[in-house]
Amino acid sequence: MHHSTDTHSDSAAAARRDLAVRAAVDQGLVTDDDRPVVALLDVRAVRETAAALRDAFTEVAAPGQNVLHTFAVKAASLVPVLRLLDEEGIGCEVASPGELALARAAGVPADRTVLDSPAKTLAELREALGLGIALNADNPQELARLDALVTPGEPPASPVGLRVNPQVGEGSIGAMSTATATSKFGVALRDPGAREGVVEAYRRRPWLTRLHSHIGSQGIPLELMAEGARATYDLAEEINAAVGRRQIDTLDLGGGLPVNFSSDEFTPTHREYAQLLARTVPGLFDGRYGIVTEFGRSLTAKAGTVLARVEYAKSAGGRPIAVTHAGAQIAVRTVFTPDAWPLRVAAYDAKGLPKKGGAVAQDVAGPCCFAGDLVARDRLLPRLEEGDHAALLDTGAYYFSNPFGYNSLPRPGVYGFTVGEDETVRFAAVREPQSLESIVAESGGAHRDALRSAD
Ligand SMILES: *Cc1c(COP(=O)(O)O)cnc(C)c1O
Repeated sequence: MHHSTDTHSDSAAAARRDLAVRAAVDQGLVTDDDRPVVALLDVRAVRETAAALRDAFTEVAAPGQNVLHTFAVKAASLVPVLRLLDEEGIGCEVASPGELALARAAGVPADRTVLDSPAKTLAELREALGLGIALNADNPQELARLDALVTPGEPPASPVGLRVNPQVGEGSIGAMSTATATSKFGVALRDPGAREGVVEAYRRRPWLTRLHSHIGSQGIPLELMAEGARATYDLAEEINAAVGRRQIDTLDLGGGLPVNFSSDEFTPTHREYAQLLARTVPGLFDGRYGIVTEFGRSLTAKAGTVLARVEYAKSAGGRPIAVTHAGAQIAVRTVFTPDAWPLRVAAYDAKGLPKKGGAVAQDVAGPCCFAGDLVARDRLLPRLEEGDHAALLDTGAYYFSNPFGYNSLPRPGVYGFTVGEDETVRFAAVREPQSLESIVAESGGAHRDALRSAD
């Protein structure tokens, strides 16, 4: 059982969210004309979560043990968010040239950046080595490319590791499970000959000093995550014994702490996970290895809220439907795989105050032109009316930062907020709402005549 020890701050976060919604309406961040949807990020919640992560590992680590926490950039690919986390001592895990550019734009130093990706080009490998950024190779072919880039006898400036797939099994969401028998990531350890091949790969490359695994994300039980860590640790011990020295000096354990999307409670906590790791694999924290983590969703999800105006309230076949401005363009996974990614919806009135009144089963729809564009189906909520607001909760990771370009809907503005002692809410723009000019530009606006017949 996972019981949060942070219920007090969980309810404080819910109170801050109500204040922020009210203020977003008051201060015109969400309006009835050109800003019908906005994303809000609770800066204090992100800071508290980052601190809780640091403390969780400090509690179990050996004195002086090197622990580097990085943030999986794909979870909230916004420069000010990366900078905020950097200020909290959390670096970046990047998986594309774009994500690396964001980390660099945020000022995250090379020694707190880790590059993982299953499809790194030669140019990406060269850039990472040139910058001294740690990287984890995905497969033997990538190691062979690195052989050509590393000068013999001269260790590269970057710590280099290999990603393995311990094949410990699947969680409840197939698409999020990276440690299945046939996952596309890393070297599949239980395949015939794979383990021996990995040991040999380390023997032949003295500069291969890290071992990486990330066994999955949302839907993976903590115990399975810990099993993945155990398998990774055991392999590192085996390799170091085989080569006769402590060649592997750092274990990168990935991210994947799941998020509770069903209440304000922050559960499971980073602390519960760190304690479980320490119980399951005590050797991780005896100080012989440096540790890297790559948490994404668990750091920012609960800090985010998408607030959308209800444009119309109608009914069809006896079912009330609130037509809002937040649908598949923001909540891609929820719309396309609703059973795997349910979201809480909170009802606010036209002024941004929590809506009271009896709950009515209703659909909450988005603005996209396809029938399945629903963020909640048959959901019991105070009946949403024209001009009210619907809030999608726990959307600070993989929602507003991962837009879907359907119907040329603009990306909403993202605002960080802080709440003062007197309950005044201050917003800081993280990303301005996308302009129509920008939509035209990214839709080939500069090439208007490209397909005309020559005259
Ligand atoms: C996506 C990813 C993460 C982060 O996963 P979360 O579920 O957001 O914590 C970490 N490491 C790697 C390699 C990833 O692909």
